[in-house]
Amino acid sequence: MDTAKKRVGASAKHIGRQNPGVLLKKRNFPRGHLFVRPGRASGKEIIVCEIRIARKRQLLPSHKYFFSELYRPDIKSSLISSEMPHLKVFCGFSRENARRLPRNAKTGISAEGGEKLDTPSKSAILKGRIAAAGGIRRRDCDGNSQTDKIIGRRRQETMQKTKPKSALAIFVKSVAIAAAATLAPAASAGEPSPCAEPAARLEGKHIDVCALPDGRLRVLDKRGKNVFEQLVPSNKILSVSQTGQSIEICMDAGGFRAVASVKICSDSAFELVVSADSKAKMEKPLAFPPAWKMEKSDTGIYPLGTGYAFPVDMQNIPVRAKTACCGGANWSMALSAAKRGDSVLVSAVATPCDALATNEYKEGLMHTAFEWIPQKGEFGYDRKMRFFVGDGLVDAMGQYRKWREENGFVRTLEQKAEASPRVNLLRGAANVWLWDDNATNRLYARPENPNAPKRDPRKIADEMVSLGMRRVLWNNFEGETRQDCLYLQKLGFLVGKYDIYRDVLPKPLVDKAIEFRVKRSVNTKYWPDIVRIGKRGDMALAWQVHGKDGKMYYQHSVCEICAFELTKINVPKDLKNVPYDARLIDVQAQSSPVECYSKKHPATRTQSFENIALQQKFLGGLGLVRGVECGQEYFAAEYEYAEGLLSPYPFRIPDAGRRMTDRLKRSELNPEMESFMLNPKYRIPLWELAYHDCAVNYWYWGVSSCICPEIMYKFDAFDALYGYPPIYSLDVSGWNLLKEKIAESYKRVSPIAELVGFEKMTNFEYLTGDKLVQKTTFSNGASVVANFGESDYALPGGKTVRPWSFALVYDR
Ligand SMILES: [Zn+2]
Repeated sequence: MDTAKKRVGASAKHIGRQNPGVLLKKRNFPRGHLFVRPGRASGKEIIVCEIRIARKRQLLPSHKYFFSELYRPDIKSSLISSEMPHLKVFCGFSRENARRLPRNAKTGISAEGGEKLDTPSKSAILKGRIAAAGGIRRRDCDGNSQTDKIIGRRRQETMQKTKPKSALAIFVKSVAIAAAATLAPAASAGEPSPCAEPAARLEGKHIDVCALPDGRLRVLDKRGKNVFEQLVPSNKILSVSQTGQSIEICMDAGGFRAVASVKICSDSAFELVVSADSKAKMEKPLAFPPAWKMEKSDTGIYPLGTGYAFPVDMQNIPVRAKTACCGGANWSMALSAAKRGDSVLVSAVATPCDALATNEYKEGLMHTAFEWIPQKGEFGYDRKMRFFVGDGLVDAMGQYRKWREENGFVRTLEQKAEASPRVNLLRGAANVWLWDDNATNRLYARPENPNAPKRDPRKIADEMVSLGMRRVLWNNFEGETRQDCLYLQKLGFLVGKYDIYRDVLPKPLVDKAIEFRVKRSVNTKYWPDIVRIGKRGDMALAWQVHGKDGKMYYQHSVCEICAFELTKINVPKDLKNVPYDARLIDVQAQSSPVECYSKKHPATRTQSFENIALQQKFLGGLGLVRGVECGQEYFAAEYEYAEGLLSPYPFRIPDAGRRMTDRLKRSELNPEMESFMLNPKYRIPLWELAYHDCAVNYWYWGVSSCICPEIMYKFDAFDALYGYPPIYSLDVSGWNLLKEKIAESYKRVSPIAELVGFEKMTNFEYLTGDKLVQKTTFSNGASVVANFGESDYALPGGKTVRPWSFALVYDR
C-alpha cells in the first residue's frame, strides 16, 4: 500500500496548473467536456487536460481532474492539431499516449465521452489504478485468490482514504492517477536512467531491462547511455510480474492467454519467450512484443538484401509494410535493428518461420516489429526473440553472429570446403552466365535469330583465360555437354548448371505452353501429386510461362517435401551424364516458408524450410558447390553462393527475372538502381558482419555487373568493399562486345575477393562524415577502403584512392 500511496503522491506533482485564460481545445461529450489549455508545472511548459464530467446532465465541478503532459513539444502539437481526429479517445492525449494507460482504465475511458462512465465496476477501476501504480506483483496471470485478496484489501484501504462519493468519482480519479503514474517515467526522457516506476526489473552487466505496468519493455544501454522503450502493446495486458530473474507479462492473445517471459542471457542481451497452449486456436497474428519507439534522429537498420540503413524519419523507406521474417531478399535475416547515438539495439527472432516483420510509420517515423502467425491455425510452439544491445553495429552484430552459431545457422566456407574441396575454387570466382543469343527467344516465345553467333564454350573460355580470367564459375541454363564440361574443368573453372524444383507445368497445359517450356518441365510426369496444396484445398500457383497463343499461363508450385524428393531423383542422374561441379537451385531459398495442406505430404512452414535445407545438404553430399537464388540466413549454413541478395527487388530493373542478357544505357535505368542499389549512403554490410565467411554473394543475374557498362565501376566498388567476386550475365554477342571491359572489371575485383572472400568481416567503418569513404576489415587482417565520393581520398602512407575506386590495405 505504501508503494501505491507513494505513486499517487508522486503523480500529483505532474498535475499542472493550467492557464485558464487560454483555451487550446474544447470538446463536448454526451456526458462531459474536455478543456485543453497550456499550463506550467515544475517550471516547465505543459499541456493541461481538464475533464468535467456531467452526470444527469449536470456538471460536477468538484470532480475536476487535471491531466498533465510534460513532454515533448510534438505531443503538444499533435494534441491541438487537426491530424488527431481520434482526440476523443482519451481526453486529448494522443492516441499513443492513451494506449499507455492500463487496459482497465482505457476500456472505460475509450467509451468516448462517457457511455460506460456510469457503470465501471469498482474492481475494474481499482485494478486499473493499482496496476498503474505498479503496486502488485503477481505470480501468475490466472487471477488467483491471493491476488484477489490483495486487490480486495487495497480496495478497502483506498476507499477509506479517498472517500469517493460515487463509482464515477473513483473512476475518473483512478484514470487521472493512472495517466500520471503511467506517463511519469517518460517525463525523464533525455536523462537516461533505469525505469523510475517499473513493475519489474532485471539487470545485466551492460543493460537494465524493466517492464512497465502496461507491458512495455524499457532497456537502458549502460555503455552508450541510451534508453530504448517500446510502444504500448496493442493486445490486452493482464499482468506484469517478476519471479526471481524473470519478468512475466501475461496477455490476452486474442481468444487465449499467452505469457511473455523476459530473461537476461548475457552481459548485453536478453531473451523474450512467448508461451501459450500449443493447441490454442489462433485466429489472427499475435503482435507482441511491440516495436521500439523511434526517435527522430534514430537510424533504422533493415535486412533488406544484404543490409540497408535509413534515417527513421526518411519518407518512403523502401521496405515492405509486411514481409515474412524469412523473406529472402526482402528480409534476409530474422532481425531488425536501430541505432541511437552509439547504441545499437538488435531485435532478433529465434523462431522465424511463423513470423512476420512489420514496418509502419508512426508519427512520421518508421517503426519495425515482429508478429507471430498461426501454425496451421494453432499457436503451435513457444515463439522466441533475443535482443542485443551493442556498442555500435559491429559489436551488436558480433553478438548476433555468436548466438546464430549456437542456433546452427553458421557453417563457414572453410568448413564447407573441407567437406567438398571444389568449394575452394569459388574463392574470387567470377560468376559468368554465358547465354546463347537465342536463349531468351526460346524461353519467351520470340522468333529465333538465325544469324546469331554460335555459343562455343571452349572458344569463349579460352578467350577468358587469355584475358587473365582464371577463376570462373561457369554457369549455364541449358547445360553443357560432357566434353565441354571436362574441357572447362581442365581450365580450372567451376562448371555449374541451373536447376529448378519449385515450378511444375500442369499436365493440362502441356498442349498450350510453348514447346521449349514443355521440354524443360521434366517433373510434369509427377503432376498433380507433387503440387503444394493451400489451406482451402487449392493448388498453389507459380511462375507464369508463355503459351502458344501468346497468353501467359500459371504453373503450379511444388511442395518443398516433394521438391527434395525430386532432387534426389533428378540430380544424380544428370551428374552421371555431365560431371558438373556446381548447381544453382532457383527460387526455393529466396522464398518465404509456406504451409502445405496436402494429405499425402502435409508440411508446416518450418517443415517446408527444413526440407529445403535437406535438399541443400543432399546436394552438398554429392560434392556439389551449391548455389541458390538470393538465399537467406536460414540456409546460410548450407549453400556456398547466392545470386541476388545484393540486389533487392525494388531496385532491380523492371522484370529483371526475365532479362538476363539485356544491356541498358545509364539513361534507361530505373532511378532506384543508382539511388538505392548502388548508393553507399544507404547500403551497409549487415549480412556480411554476420555471415561473410559463410557464403559468397553475387548480384542478381538480371542486374549483373554488366547490365549497364557505363557504371560497371559502381558494381565493382561494392564488390571490392564487401569482398565479393563479380557476376556477368550476357549472351555471346554481349561477350564479344564487352570482353575487354569485363576482363578489366574482373582484374579489379576478383583478386580482392580471392584474398578475403572466405574471411569473416570483422569491422565496417565510415572514414568520412559524408559516409562516402568506407572501410571493411577481414579476419586475415586485410582491409578494403572504397571511395564512393567525387574527390580523391588520401590513405595514411600517401596512397590515394580515386573517386569510385578502392584499395586493399593491411593495417598490420
Ligand atoms: Zn506438401
